[in-house]
Amino acid sequence: MSLKIHIRKDGGAYPVITCDHCFGLIDDVRNANALWLETTDEGRERERLYETVHVHKRCDRLFEAANPAEADQFWMSHELEHDVCMMLANAGYNPRAAEARAKLRMP
Ligand SMILES: [Zn+2]
Repeated sequence: MSLKIHIRKDGGAYPVITCDHCFGLIDDVRNANALWLETTDEGRERERLYETVHVHKRCDRLFEAANPAEADQFWMSHELEHDVCMMLANAGYNPRAAEARAKLRMP
């Protein structure tokens, strides 16, 4: 799982995404992908959930080579920048409303 909390020396807890291949910090969503292993046996005729992994773009092919798909599977990907945006939207995240609520909590 590449979604983690980084506890820094200042005591703060910061959510981060790490690469599932090299385990380094992903600090630029434009240079990373979200991958999932999709099965071919049933096409896309029914809804399914797949686990995702996150990798630097430079690590993408290396990760896929180290984790080869079975005969009835294939690796799919989104650019991480788009994936994070879609994930937050699917979780009901509204950036303007969240910013307004955050400002209410600021001293
Ligand atoms: Zn990496």
